[in-house]
Amino acid sequence: MQHSNVRGPCKGGIRYHPSVTFDEVAAMAAVMTWKCALVDVPFGGATGGIVCDPKKLSRGELERLTRRYTYEIAALIGPDQDIPAPDVNTDAQTMAWIMDTYSMTTGHATPAVVTGKPMYLGGSAGRYEAGARGCLFVLREACKLKGLDLANATVAIQGFGNSGSVMAKLLWKEGLKVIAVSDSKAGIVNKDGIDIPALLRFKTETGSVEAFPGCTPISSADVLKTACDILVPAAMENQITIENAGYIKAQIIAEVATSPTTPEADLMLIRKEVMVLPDILASGGGVTVSYFEWVQDLQQLFWEEEEVNRRLEHVMVKAFREVCETRKKYDCTYRAAAYIVAIDRVAKATIERGLWP
Ligand code: GLU
Repeated sequence: MQHSNVRGPCKGGIRYHPSVTFDEVAAMAAVMTWKCALVDVPFGGATGGIVCDPKKLSRGELERLTRRYTYEIAALIGPDQDIPAPDVNTDAQTMAWIMDTYSMTTGHATPAVVTGKPMYLGGSAGRYEAGARGCLFVLREACKLKGLDLANATVAIQGFGNSGSVMAKLLWKEGLKVIAVSDSKAGIVNKDGIDIPALLRFKTETGSVEAFPGCTPISSADVLKTACDILVPAAMENQITIENAGYIKAQIIAEVATSPTTPEADLMLIRKEVMVLPDILASGGGVTVSYFEWVQDLQQLFWEEEEVNRRLEHVMVKAFREVCETRKKYDCTYRAAAYIVAIDRVAKATIERGLWP
């Protein structure tokens, strides 16, 4: 689903999940338009989805599914048209299959058709961790504003997939205590802090965080209610609802997932004066480094990871400051301010382009 190409080629992830719907994909495509505008990369928004349960598919089945899907959308995608990337349950291998299938239709290697590729296929250094790293840069700025000592903060993370697990790793490296996490099967809590590197190994071996030694089991919903400083929803949409928002104890919520908060829950969090860093800001790091990957592919000139991270930090801090200034100007929430900045950019581009014919 392509939402906008006013500011440049469409950009967004492809999601494999049993409950994907057309409405969900359409909503995420719109979110991508605003996200790209907020971090000011020259893209519009798109998202793709396949209704399937990738956990039940063999590698061969996943490859055939991906290649057939790519063939169906080959006329719509391309480096100047629409550039897919990983999302829920898709990864660098998925992107490699898309790149190969698309390249077969063009007759030559076309790495810039997708981002989030393996490094030896034109992927960018730092892309895998970019979503989480971008969120960390935003959290650093947010903690300064709140007067919260980031290095000593406690965190709960809902979701332990592409985004949540990397987020846990980076926060742990920063010295924060990650005290609760959940995945699609189970949740775990340890008030003294979870050993994240050991948990990552455990998840790779067993497929879940369930029964990780030294932790108490809790439900995925209860992870949201854990007493902590920072809450990171990094799973699916509509997780923070009117039913659980009242129980949230965190001072800051960093939306790494797309649309994890329902509008009603959002109002409740505003009343509770929780600082909600909206998805289009908190998860803007992924598409920012996707943009860097695309630029590197087109130039065929690749950057060191330090260069990627330095540029990412610049983009994220700038976006955060723009949101803060807009929030002050209009006396509104961080979410409203982020949308004001993003929609203004798309509106200006639309007006300046004008209508043809
Ligand atoms: N799933 C990513 C996101 O939602 C994809 C963005 C991209 O890199 O194109 O931000």
